[in-house]
Amino acid sequence: MRDEPIGELNPPNRVLLTPGPSCVDPRVYRAMATPIVGHLDPWFMDMMSEVQILLRRVFRTDNRVTFPLSASGSGGIEAAVLNPLEAGDECLICVNGVFSERMAIIASRTPATVTRVEAPYGRTVDPEDVRRAGKGKKIKVIGLAHGETSTSVLQKIDEYRKVADELGALLIVDTVATLAGVPVDVDRQRIDICFSGTQKAISAPPGMSPMTVNARSEEIIRGRKTKTQSWYFDLETVMNYWGKERLYHHTPPISLIYGLREALRCVLEEGLEARWERHAQNQQALIAGIEAMGLELFVKNPADRLPTVTALRIPEGVDDHKVRNQLLAEFNIEIAGGLGPVKGKIWRVGLMGYSSQRNNVLLFLGAFEKVLLDQGHRVPSGAGVGAAVQSYSQAQPVPAGAAK
Ligand SMILES: *Cc1c(COP(=O)(O)O)cnc(C)c1O
Repeated sequence: MRDEPIGELNPPNRVLLTPGPSCVDPRVYRAMATPIVGHLDPWFMDMMSEVQILLRRVFRTDNRVTFPLSASGSGGIEAAVLNPLEAGDECLICVNGVFSERMAIIASRTPATVTRVEAPYGRTVDPEDVRRAGKGKKIKVIGLAHGETSTSVLQKIDEYRKVADELGALLIVDTVATLAGVPVDVDRQRIDICFSGTQKAISAPPGMSPMTVNARSEEIIRGRKTKTQSWYFDLETVMNYWGKERLYHHTPPISLIYGLREALRCVLEEGLEARWERHAQNQQALIAGIEAMGLELFVKNPADRLPTVTALRIPEGVDDHKVRNQLLAEFNIEIAGGLGPVKGKIWRVGLMGYSSQRNNVLLFLGAFEKVLLDQGHRVPSGAGVGAAVQSYSQAQPVPAGAAK
């Protein structure tokens, strides 16, 4: 060990155009720098109720059990899947990328029987395949990712709800990549268990998973014959801490909850509809730019594209890492590469929450052109930025913010 002093922390201020984490509003940082109180302090308990009210508004639900789970998005998958499944149960998991695959892997660690209903990367899972897979079986749970971040595919929740109704199954939906960036309406869409992540379109720091559980699922969880395998993710006890009783379960990440509270206030000040529209418009401009540069989107069908993350194919002969490293070193911009089978084949550009800004789209397209040129890939000069500017000039004005 050398004995040089380790200096005070001073992170670079990056432009985060990844599929999470996204940039954070300065208001959220300020909230997180306020004093820690005890997690059983009456003041803190009132503040927890405020966070729950804000979360219900963002999820669009009246579910009593609505709270931020102390875990990243993957912990949300774990809690959502482990709790309703017991020995003898059967579930169907729609797999079309790394995160829905993760849900299937987690489900396979429960004593339940898991059937995977698959689609190729870049495509949605066909609801007809789900229907066929469940035919004649007693299916307890159908699980899917609303936005599959690894491939930038969006799936239509209503189609899977219909199949779940026919099969009498609970519908579990991963909205980590979509909540607060893409329309999600838990009560109207009758999602039984829905969870998200704080670091994507909500634009709070990573580390929490907002979750909502309807009365039907709560009854199933409270009526389990056996204990959920995980103590930490046992929703029965977690629900008691976030419920009226406020019974101690674990010490929650207090500063993260402060940050989440402020981030949710930002979401509702802007208004959900306005926020969805902002995400849609910025992605439209980004797509116009990418296509004008002669690059190819990974998801062919425009209706299947996830508005918060855009995947594009890496052109032949271009080095994935060199491009991403130069974007970071020269422009402070971080984008992501592919995961799993599409590693080295695609780039993923996230425009989530506070990162989904016109300035960022134009900066990225300009920087991207320069970096591609430096890496030996010619693109038509100024075409990307030009097409994005054109796209913005044709966009409707974003509606003003709604209820707080
Ligand atoms: C990011 C993401 C996750 C995982 O979240 P972590 O916070 O990295 O654990 C799960 N599902 C989807 C759809 C995601 O985009």
